[in-house]
Amino acid sequence: MRTMPAVLVVEDEPAIAELIAVNLRHNGFRPTWAMDSVSAQREIDASLPDLILLDWMLPGESGLSLARRWRANERTKGVPLIMLTARGDEADRVAGLDSGADDYISKPFSTKELLARVRAVLRRRAPEQDGEAIVIAGLSLDSATHRVSFAEQALKLGPTEFKLLHYLMGHAERVHSRGQLLDKVWGDHVYIEERTVDVHVKRLREALGAAGPMVETVRGAGYRLTAKPATPVSLATRAQLG
Ligand code: CA
Repeated sequence: MRTMPAVLVVEDEPAIAELIAVNLRHNGFRPTWAMDSVSAQREIDASLPDLILLDWMLPGESGLSLARRWRANERTKGVPLIMLTARGDEADRVAGLDSGADDYISKPFSTKELLARVRAVLRRRAPEQDGEAIVIAGLSLDSATHRVSFAEQALKLGPTEFKLLHYLMGHAERVHSRGQLLDKVWGDHVYIEERTVDVHVKRLREALGAAGPMVETVRGAGYRLTAKPATPVSLATRAQLG
């Protein structure tokens, strides 16, 4: 990772944008400010940031809509994204995470909390250095190259889903509670709720496609990755595996 990560701040309120930018700059980041979706897209087209801080309520296209668009785009889908919003209830939080955000901060927030979350999301994205590929029943994860494939087909995973899969594959067949996964995958991030784990597991399953059933829900206990899922992978995929 670069020594000074670039952070795109998309925020229409100048006072808040300035507060964020000053704090980022003082803490070793290179912030760029965009005040609406059009200028944000222009910044992204010019240069891909290491992280995006995105306000939900923007004039014109909303932050939620921008998040969905960037997650659907091949070039921008892997860029970590934190949503900023005045909307604090559970349904909004889930909508934010479902749109592809890696994390969610409710206004008003402390700059200390903001920096902690920025660092945590970047840390999650940082490639693991310890690695050989792990292969389980055709599902392969290479932590050195950050590549995931199933039946020789490359899969695209977001940064959090990659880390989650890495942990589950490194400890396959064992059941992990949501709390354990938060500890191991999200680390010292104290602000995240257990519901967040469910959102990322759902996204991981979707990203895995035919291999999705390998990530099993164990009722009342948590999640596990298994080579022999109760819902088998599709026959077509089995045939490909030979
Ligand atoms: Ca706003």
